[in-house]
Amino acid sequence: MAPALRHGSGLPRGRAARLERADRQPQLADAARERYGGEKLFLINPCGFLFQELTASRLIVCDLDGHVVRGEGELCKVAFHVHTRIHLARPDAACVLHVHPQYLTTLSLLELPELALVHHNNMLLNDRVAMDHRGVRTADSNEGGDRLAAAMGGKSILIMGAHGVTVAGPTVLDAFDELYIAERTAMYQMTAMASGRRLKRLPESSRKHWHGPCGERLDARLHLDAWRRVLDREEPDCAS
Ligand SMILES: [Zn+2]
Repeated sequence: MAPALRHGSGLPRGRAARLERADRQPQLADAARERYGGEKLFLINPCGFLFQELTASRLIVCDLDGHVVRGEGELCKVAFHVHTRIHLARPDAACVLHVHPQYLTTLSLLELPELALVHHNNMLLNDRVAMDHRGVRTADSNEGGDRLAAAMGGKSILIMGAHGVTVAGPTVLDAFDELYIAERTAMYQMTAMASGRRLKRLPESSRKHWHGPCGERLDARLHLDAWRRVLDREEPDCAS
């Protein structure tokens, strides 16, 4: 799970590593996905650590009331409300990733942000993107988290106005792959927009109308494994 956050898509390297590291700890990753004694638990980074500091053993396991049931550290308040309310609203979402990557976050700052139908990635991606245009308050309450969950609906990607992005997927692999592709695609669009010239739109007929995760078609396992090999070479401590 932790390389999804450290190396992904122009995502800050520490965030990719955080996801990859969780993926390397099957017992923790399973804890995040399965019911223990009828209780749903999830895996998350504790407050107070830079992403590049995180290792698999530093991730904490929490219940949906925000109690830390395994590991050391505290759960950040906004993270709690974003993650738990989406997990509750979306039983299919075993993995919920919330980050502030450069290009999707920049897009979220625009008036009426739109992931335009301009790159071939958009043909496959755009029908899975929801936009939250009402990001005038931080998600520091259950109501705020519920509002985000409602804005996401059944989509896998929520671009959160004035905030960042949240991606939901059936597995860590799928969520990472989805987030990576969305951030790369936003990078292409924002870079093109920075030229000052108009975007060239693709015809609506080019949409693929695919609603499942990218990984079902593009092999998210291979993608995340590639980033894990990079981490093995560059930051082998992440699995500890
Ligand atoms: Zn945030």
